[in-house]
Amino acid sequence: MFRLSSRRLPVSPAVRFAPALLLAACSALAVEQPQTLTERYERDVQRIVAAVQADNDAMPLLQELCDDIGHRLSGSPQLDDAIQWAVRRLRAAGHDFVGTETVMVTQWIRGEESVEMLAPRPMSIPMLGLGGSVGTPAGGITADVLVVNSFEELQQRGSEARGRIVVFNFAMPTENEREGAGYGAAVRYRYGGAGAAAKHGARAALVRSVTTRSLQSPHTGGMGYPDGVEQIPTAAITTEFAEMLARLQSRGQAITLRLNMEARTSPAPVPSANVIAELRGRERPDEIVVISGHLDSWDVGTGAQDDGAGVVTAMAALNALKKLDLRPRRTIRVVLWTNEENGIAGGRTYKQVHADELARHVAAIELDSGAGAPIGYGVEAQDKGKRARAIEQLGEILGLCRAAGNLPAYEGYSGADIRPMLDAGFVLLGQDADMTHYFDIHHTEADTIDKIDPKALTNHVAVMAAVSYVIADMDERIGN
Ligand SMILES: [Zn+2]
Repeated sequence: MFRLSSRRLPVSPAVRFAPALLLAACSALAVEQPQTLTERYERDVQRIVAAVQADNDAMPLLQELCDDIGHRLSGSPQLDDAIQWAVRRLRAAGHDFVGTETVMVTQWIRGEESVEMLAPRPMSIPMLGLGGSVGTPAGGITADVLVVNSFEELQQRGSEARGRIVVFNFAMPTENEREGAGYGAAVRYRYGGAGAAAKHGARAALVRSVTTRSLQSPHTGGMGYPDGVEQIPTAAITTEFAEMLARLQSRGQAITLRLNMEARTSPAPVPSANVIAELRGRERPDEIVVISGHLDSWDVGTGAQDDGAGVVTAMAALNALKKLDLRPRRTIRVVLWTNEENGIAGGRTYKQVHADELARHVAAIELDSGAGAPIGYGVEAQDKGKRARAIEQLGEILGLCRAAGNLPAYEGYSGADIRPMLDAGFVLLGQDADMTHYFDIHHTEADTIDKIDPKALTNHVAVMAAVSYVIADMDERIGN
């Protein structure tokens, strides 16, 4: 019975809709219907995804970048090595164009640094100075401590901050870790803690590391000084020690710390470079789709997830298209940005140098959310209508990439290096990764290649190759 009825079911709708089907068939004969993106690109995308999943260069490239070169802070010899390495590797892949474009970058130098607790008991506290911080005077800063949980609490207890080392014990919120939702709230303390503490006469600021999980690892990152306030040294301490200091204070124990930092910023910017490689378009080579990640990192760990993963994904995606001999109508341009971590000079300089061709840019993609599994695409465009159309088109393209994950397209952040080009009018795309464990190792000594899941990285390569190929090949510019 079951079989019988299920066999009969398809008959009745077909009969019922027969006139409609006939009409559709007639109009298809009269006027050639434009193909949907799915109809047109399903085979190409499946071919790209399958080929990348079978074999791609991302892990071997990441091993060379992380194990042979290591971390890559702006202005460091390691970053210079990484730039030369990327050029060599992209040239060896036989791309149509490979080169560098000079970018002047800030050079911050960490030097020796330490935090010691003197009272209530002597001990050394794990720490990392924050990028951009000034150093301490020779001999360090020895001072009593004020622990606060927030800027609001500092405001209330401002008078107690004078002459002290202020410790910000703000815990990164844990909601929606997959999308890294807690970062924005917590990073305000890393970036602005020193300035806020200095306004109240503090001598230094220590900030609880921006992470929800910790095994005594301090997390560095960029900071900035507001105008008109004394520049005081600042560093990150671990979540464990931030909490211990808070407990000691709440029990009325006086805490004395000594902070030593040799940190300094070079008086003048130093030369670095963005690396560029192209697969030239077959019909409209002057129209450009950028795929990208940033080559610089902090001076700890090996920058494997931040953002070695984005760098090798873009490189391996271009290599994969080249190997498949797929040449889209427009040009796909890999850009490996310099100086994302402490200046965004790579993104800003690209915008200036390429000002006369920005109108011919169609889209820019950045992967800078680590190497967790791909989870979708954030879409930005200045024009709301353009953004809505881009989300719809990209949703269709991503629907073809199902073998690499269930990937929606939505209104969302693109990437720090491409964002300066938002006002140029084209579509900016952030290739998003599952960030559940991103902040566990973010900007730490533990950001090393053993944390990278090769399968997730492979899927990033597949998605970036497929999405950039379709956007570079489709009739209309994405968003139009
Ligand atoms: Zn990054």
